[in-house]
Amino acid sequence: MHLSDLKTGEKAYIVKVKGHGGFRKRIIEMGFIKGQEIEALLSAPLQDPVKYKVMGYEVSLRRQEAEQIEVSYEILRSVDENPMTSTSTPRDQQHNTTGIKELTVALVGNPNCGKTSLFNFASGAHEHVGNYSGVTVDAKEGYTHFGGYRIRLIDLPGTYSLSAYSPEELYVRKQLVDDTPDVVLNVIDASNIERNLYLTTQLMDMHLRVVCALNMFDELELRGDKLNVDKLSSLLGMPMVPTSFKTGRGLEQLLSEVIHIFESREGHDEYYRHFHIKHDHEIEDGINNIQKYLKGNDLLRMRYSTRWLAIKLLEMDKEVDAILRELPDYDKIIEARDTAVRRIKEETGDDSETAIMDAKYGFIRGALHEAGYVVGVKEDTYKTTHRLDALITNRWAGFPIFFALLWVMFEVTFTLGQYPMDWIDAGVGWIGEWVSETMDDGPLKAMIVDGIIGGVGAVIVFLPQILILYTFISLMEDSGYMARAAFIMDKLMHKMGLHGKSFIPLIMGFGCNVPAVMATRTVESRRARLITMLVLPMMSCSARLPIYIMIIGAFFAQKYQSWVMVSLYAVGIVMSVIVARILSRWVIKGEDVPFVMELPPYRFPTAKAIFRHTWEKGKQYLKKMGGVILVASIIVWALGYFGTMGVAPSLEDSFIGMLGKLMEPLFTPQGFDWRLDISLLTGVGAKEIVASTIGVLYGDAYNFTPLVAYAFLIFVLLYFPCIATIVAIKNESGSWRWAWFAALYTTGLAWVVSALVYQVGSLLL
Ligand code: GDP
Ligand code: MG
Repeated sequence: MHLSDLKTGEKAYIVKVKGHGGFRKRIIEMGFIKGQEIEALLSAPLQDPVKYKVMGYEVSLRRQEAEQIEVSYEILRSVDENPMTSTSTPRDQQHNTTGIKELTVALVGNPNCGKTSLFNFASGAHEHVGNYSGVTVDAKEGYTHFGGYRIRLIDLPGTYSLSAYSPEELYVRKQLVDDTPDVVLNVIDASNIERNLYLTTQLMDMHLRVVCALNMFDELELRGDKLNVDKLSSLLGMPMVPTSFKTGRGLEQLLSEVIHIFESREGHDEYYRHFHIKHDHEIEDGINNIQKYLKGNDLLRMRYSTRWLAIKLLEMDKEVDAILRELPDYDKIIEARDTAVRRIKEETGDDSETAIMDAKYGFIRGALHEAGYVVGVKEDTYKTTHRLDALITNRWAGFPIFFALLWVMFEVTFTLGQYPMDWIDAGVGWIGEWVSETMDDGPLKAMIVDGIIGGVGAVIVFLPQILILYTFISLMEDSGYMARAAFIMDKLMHKMGLHGKSFIPLIMGFGCNVPAVMATRTVESRRARLITMLVLPMMSCSARLPIYIMIIGAFFAQKYQSWVMVSLYAVGIVMSVIVARILSRWVIKGEDVPFVMELPPYRFPTAKAIFRHTWEKGKQYLKKMGGVILVASIIVWALGYFGTMGVAPSLEDSFIGMLGKLMEPLFTPQGFDWRLDISLLTGVGAKEIVASTIGVLYGDAYNFTPLVAYAFLIFVLLYFPCIATIVAIKNESGSWRWAWFAALYTTGLAWVVSALVYQVGSLLL
């Protein structure tokens, strides 16, 4: 509860003071310290302000101010009424009554600086670690216990700055401003310190409590860099700790600094003080002139640093503009801003945004210089990177290497995967036989053998191949290759109205469309993002693999099998290109904004990370097996076993047979029979179910031609992705409209293309 909820005469204990630095500092100086008893003495006639008694003093606070203070009736009982928005689980909202002190720490930093690695080390959580900018697209929460605190860690998406360019930047900013974490843990890639400190300067503007982790310190040392960490730390007024989250080095010191900052007061020592980065006088004048208007508004002052607001306004920040639009002085503020912008332009020749950025980089360079920063020459981390990049992103070699890697990926997946697949297949067959022999005939036996073992078995055999495919994708992500792939594909992607960054989600789509749709968040341009997620379902995900392998294996001679398989993937890709072009031309309008594509240094992926990532995916697959697919298999079996007169004498007389017959006219242009129609219907839940349904319905006796088989595969490739993907599209695009659109156009396209394949094929063959 908030202090403002306290009734006259009641007493409570202070839990936390929210609001931004300046306000909090003042309030804390007034004695509003965590754990202090506070009493509401009396309130003014309009309930505002209210007089409180704290530490023997009487102070009066306005209602707005009191709202920024969290209190609780019980001492040391932590009440966090402001849990993280989207990611909170009900457990987080339960009040912690154990008497343990709680502390919220948000991890902020550039992409690839090691936030997730830190998070994993501290919390032991299994989060995906990837060497691709933007693998973390959502905030993750974890806990760790340290120094008597239960520290809630929030792994925020990586950002280069806190301007409002991308959804991530906005999201991180919103978390910092609206949910004010107790301490911000700024993770810095120390081997890239100058650029990383830019974000730090923005945190300084915001006046937050910050502790810096100088991560990748191992690489800095390897290169022989010189840096006086203590000096830098005192120059920036925040504690800095060298860390390496390859090994976990520095974690304890980092956490104790976090607690220290939390418990001590600002200005307490040189490592914890607030100051302003000085800009040139024309910028400073502009900031001051704007601030004059902002300072008059108390509500604003409590929530934001007015200096930060003024700087942001000078940077032409739209969000801040929207916040200030509510103010009565808005016109004057904008006038002050425009004057300042004009002067800055006259005196520096730059627009204000550039001028402010220059000043910040000037500050960073100065600080680094003073801290004796010298880049070492012992081992250039980037030497290898530069050499590799010269080859991998080469105009001539880039594409062949890329396609060779993709080829190796699929080749290894299918050939190597064949062995464990055969073993599992044999195992499933053996279990089926064993059950057949031991159990008495009847519906139960039929359900277990034909429904469960037949259905789930038909799908589970593909687990090894899926694991191999994911191992490759993880390797490409973690090593940094994926970012290069995006880089070399950028031009092609642009032709489709997409962005180079769209390429990673598209490749991930070969694994599973659902995380791939979520990964589109890294694409800054909304237009490119939308198009990416709409064409994504045509990337043939691994769930479609079982069907391909099953049908191709049965209908095509060994020597053609690979080609048929490749042709399916190719059809998917070609279709996505066509659809993307159509969408970008006529449906989804908007301009293309250029965005930097990050090329992180190549890193040798750790076996642990690869294993973890692969296993997480495998687990999801198994879960699906035990859930949707098991239930669907049993339903399909039951619909095929029973009919209107009880146990159906044959499949044709069963419920499923009737349903199939009903649908048959719809698919005559494709030459599908009712059993194929049924399997398509069941595949709406998840595409693996198509395979298990065919397994249940046909056994091994297929009665259609290879041409029908191919038309069927094309249909499976293109039609309705699966419910989970559609829901993901709804969530990411923010509306059901696009989700419906995706569901309908894919199915329509599938119908047309597969009909064409069958009709043209019938003429030719
Ligand atoms: P995030 O994007 O900030 O979450 O960064 P990640 O935690 O995903 O890390 C990106 C890459 O850097 C991964 O390949 C990590 O294994 C690697 N990494 C993380 N911390 C360190 C470190 O201290 N030293 C080195 N050499 N590599 C690290
Ligand atoms: Mg991350």
